[in-house]
Amino acid sequence: MHLIVQKYGGTSVANPDRIANVANRVAKGWRDGNKMVVVLSAMAGETDRLIKLARELSEDPDPRELDVLLATGEQVTVSLFSMFLRSQGVPATSLLSHQARIYTDRAYGRARIIGIDTARVKEELKKGRIVTVAGFQGVDEVGNITTLGRGGSDTTAVAIAAALKADLCEIYTDVDGVYTTDPRLHPKARKLARITYDEMLEMSSLGAKVLEIRSVGFAKRYAVPLAVRSSFSDQPGTLVTVEDEEMEDVPVSGVALSRNDSRVTITRVPDRPGIAVRLFRPVADANIVVDMIIQNTSIDGYTDLTFTVHRGDLKKTLEIVGPVAREIGAEQVLNDENIAKISIVGVGMKNNAGVAARMFEALSGENINILMISTSEIKISCVIEDKYGELAVRVLHDTFGLETPPPKKK
Ligand code: ADP
Ligand code: ASP
Ligand code: MG
Repeated sequence: MHLIVQKYGGTSVANPDRIANVANRVAKGWRDGNKMVVVLSAMAGETDRLIKLARELSEDPDPRELDVLLATGEQVTVSLFSMFLRSQGVPATSLLSHQARIYTDRAYGRARIIGIDTARVKEELKKGRIVTVAGFQGVDEVGNITTLGRGGSDTTAVAIAAALKADLCEIYTDVDGVYTTDPRLHPKARKLARITYDEMLEMSSLGAKVLEIRSVGFAKRYAVPLAVRSSFSDQPGTLVTVEDEEMEDVPVSGVALSRNDSRVTITRVPDRPGIAVRLFRPVADANIVVDMIIQNTSIDGYTDLTFTVHRGDLKKTLEIVGPVAREIGAEQVLNDENIAKISIVGVGMKNNAGVAARMFEALSGENINILMISTSEIKISCVIEDKYGELAVRVLHDTFGLETPPPKKK
């Protein structure tokens, strides 16, 4: 007997037929003698619909009330799911976040899980029931409803699996695993049998939405055995795991594309101590995450400063840096939303020279201009013009031969 946490995404519960299909799969696991905890997303498109509805009444919806609204999407699916199982004679109980006791901070719309009290879930499991938990939502210390940010049901699932010390956490979605790149962008994308936690962290943060980044963080920290599988097939899927020697031999495991960033450039910034902090401190205080930062070599005491922020944060960022730029005597603040970030990821990069040069060569071969570059131990990212994003994915995928599985070690 195993304790298994399964999460089903929006497309897997998009209509009553699919809910019944997924519920039957879960019931099978339960009949086989496993303890089953199921985390569900809202039906596909529902969260977007609710956001649109909110915007029809308020240009800038109040974050607390928006979370109350958005949490309803997941309430619908868990109740329908458990209702169906009960109608089949299978005992099931749905739990919302306050019942499953998923505690978060009060950062509405992007709340962090700070603790889970598993007593109620364990009690239900002990009674032999399937427990269905609403994904994406949490509750703060005084009972306000919060949500974890888009794609947050993955995080609910992994966090519950960690808290319960589950034997396995399976994320069921509309693709049958983690691919070398988004299979919707390149037909030659190949399903990976395994990917390391660190590679997956990079892939998620660089645009591969198949797993939400915080879920991977939890999985790594608490060593949760994590698999990504399809709810439409019985394929084995991809295992997210610790790295081993074989994985270290492959310089590049995946390519990711992100279209969520925008670029801000401040020209003729006086080059003296304390300027960077005057610009970036208020941005940080507004909870805006700055990704890449580039400062040019100073000429005649002035320099240009370029950085990227999430597209949704651009307006607020400009409102903050505009006045500061004027105060410090910079020339102007420019911005560009037509950018994409293309990245290659691989733990083997650590031991392989020349990977960056091959990447730049491949992009230049297609006349793709690189606007910014950033690197870490296991990834290289380039900001390019948005219109070249998909071309860059295909070119890099082909350049690093990702279509072909690496040879097996004897
Ligand atoms: P769910 O609603 O089940 O949470 P998501 O839409 O959040 O599903 O994530 C699944 C999608 O992630 C896939 O349909 C695919 O287009 C996209 N994706 C992006 N990068 C990758 C990748 N490297 N491997 C697999 N899927 C990817
Ligand atoms: N329903 C939420 C969303 O669409 C959470 C999730 O699906 O993971 O972002
Ligand atoms: Mg998702």
